Amino acid sequence: MLDSMSELSTKSALPVNRLRDLLFPPACLFCQRPLDSGDQSQACCNDCFASVHIWPTSVCHQCGQELPEAMAPGPCGRCLNQSPVQCRTLNLYTYQGPVRDAILSWKLNGHEAAVGWLLQSAIPRLKQELPADVLLLPVPMPLSRMRKSGQHHAANLCHWIADAVGCHWSWQILRRQGEQQRQSALSGEARRKNLRKAFILSDDYRARIEGIRSVCIVDDIMTTGSTLHYAARACNRLGVPVSVLSLARTTQKR
Ligand SMILES: [Zn+2]
Ligand SMILES: [Zn+2]
Repeated sequence: MLDSMSELSTKSALPVNRLRDLLFPPACLFCQRPLDSGDQSQACCNDCFASVHIWPTSVCHQCGQELPEAMAPGPCGRCLNQSPVQCRTLNLYTYQGPVRDAILSWKLNGHEAAVGWLLQSAIPRLKQELPADVLLLPVPMPLSRMRKSGQHHAANLCHWIADAVGCHWSWQILRRQGEQQRQSALSGEARRKNLRKAFILSDDYRARIEGIRSVCIVDDIMTTGSTLHYAARACNRLGVPVSVLSLARTTQKR
């Protein structure tokens, strides 16, 4: 248990009090309500536990959209019509309720405990879905935003997941060029235009992917899928299968 809990943080040593609180939190990690013996999880209250929605597992393999079980793993009609760049889309949670709150709290305020719990809960699925020889690539952030926030959340996710699954990750292969507007402020078409030339590969990418059989591009939130689409398109030149992974995905239609 203690070994696996170390995956909750990228720091190697946690203060004892902090570790104890992660293992036996006095309050729900999501809504901060004090926990009691009626709560079935030691990490969150029953209400939050019931509101954490795992992304459906009966999906189109390529785009990740839900499909009736008889039709899974697809491809779905949309992918038959126009095949996505990525060969696989894996989403862990639905971006709503406590999952949404946890991710926003992590990104905006640096509170990582609830997201850490979500990731830890997803480890069995990640181990099952990700080959151990995959190379994880975080969706790169525009430099100006990284300088401002001092954080690279997709890279942190890669670090956590790579530790849990036992694979490698690299932030040096997929790069961002130019400065783009924030994606969250834009509509679907505007997002696509904004991203068309946003991603490039590093000059030395060939040396960096030597021996790699597949890559998986990782982002925290998948909304329209445009960011991951253009990031995957830039990775086509790597010459290996490209999949994409999000911690959470919105249910809005593309
Ligand atoms: Zn709660
Ligand atoms: Zn599909």
